Amino acid sequence: MTDRLYYQDAYLTTFTGMVIGQKTQDGGLWLALDRSAFYPTSGGQPYDTGVLRYPEGEAYVTDVQVEGDTVWHRVDREVPPRTQVEGEIDWPRRFDHMQQHGGEHILAGCIWNLFGGVTRGLHLGQEDSTIDVTMPDGRVHLSPQEMEELEEMANRRIQQDAPIKSWFPDEAELDSLPLRKPSAVKEHVRVVAAGDFEMVPCGGTHPGSTGQLGMLKIISIIPAKGKMRVCFVAGMRALKYYQTLYSACQQAGSLLSAGADTLPQAVEKLQANLTQARYDAVQWQKKASQALAAQLSSQAERLGEYVLVVHQAEGADMEGLKTLAQQLIAKPHTIALLAASQQEGGVVTFARGELVQLDMAKLLRDSGAKGGGRPDFAQGKAGSLAVLETAVQAIRGLYST
Ligand SMILES: [Zn+2]
Repeated sequence: MTDRLYYQDAYLTTFTGMVIGQKTQDGGLWLALDRSAFYPTSGGQPYDTGVLRYPEGEAYVTDVQVEGDTVWHRVDREVPPRTQVEGEIDWPRRFDHMQQHGGEHILAGCIWNLFGGVTRGLHLGQEDSTIDVTMPDGRVHLSPQEMEELEEMANRRIQQDAPIKSWFPDEAELDSLPLRKPSAVKEHVRVVAAGDFEMVPCGGTHPGSTGQLGMLKIISIIPAKGKMRVCFVAGMRALKYYQTLYSACQQAGSLLSAGADTLPQAVEKLQANLTQARYDAVQWQKKASQALAAQLSSQAERLGEYVLVVHQAEGADMEGLKTLAQQLIAKPHTIALLAASQQEGGVVTFARGELVQLDMAKLLRDSGAKGGGRPDFAQGKAGSLAVLETAVQAIRGLYST
């Protein structure tokens, strides 16, 4: 059995204890101590890390788990049984967990008071924490106004700097306490209370007063397995979150010559400008393509009643060739054989006006390109632009007089 020192004092960072057990599990070495301030993963709060020092050296604690009433410490080296050790927990990690865990109590209490929502579980993550809530009407969202109201109430309770206390009441006292949630266990129930607004059974570690939570910010509210998942940060994480947002807003603001509060309008304006610019570009491309089509038609080779336009476009893509071809074959006697070189080989577009009796898809494949289309319009890829010359020869063979 381990005397869990954090029950009495969540601020205890160093302690002495004795190795009373040893085991190998999950590929690691674990030690049991007769007393420990290390918090084992439980109730949604992750384990502490730290170090165990003894005369011959020191062992790092990389995981802590509880089994029955014994706390097991995963260590990176063997420590002989009955060794007296001095433990030291990684305080910044623990205090961060205390802030998030305490934040969960405040948030869950406010959700209960404001909406009658019941919290089903806490997950304390590396970046942020989540609680899953069952709302009385089954909904899985809060309105923006409700979210604001919830955050304001939580932060008012933090600013009250109300004491957070924990104790083990006897059965009679436990029955008389106004707990927000009933206890999951019957014996040895630990109760945690914050001011006069929060009281639940809990075995975790918490700051001594709500003021030490600093600030609480909700990050998101999303549906999760039929419940409402509230994602939040508290304490130093809330400051870090603000710093990240501040930096992002500053950078975006300087790019857009706007303040943080006018960023949405600046982005809206930018989007409108972009839409206009895209429209203008399409119009210009159309005009340029029309001019090119007119020029190519005027210089085209005449094959009896037909007109053969052969053109290799610089830097064009499939779409550009398509637009140009469409303009060329508006004239019903035109045959357009267009190509553009690309990194590997090229792209080709073979098209014809409505008075030309030719299957352009067949011509495209017969010339050695890969692709297809309709009898009057085909597109494809070619290993080399030699296919263009093959197609030209084929057309001349058919129509030269
Ligand atoms: Zn707690």
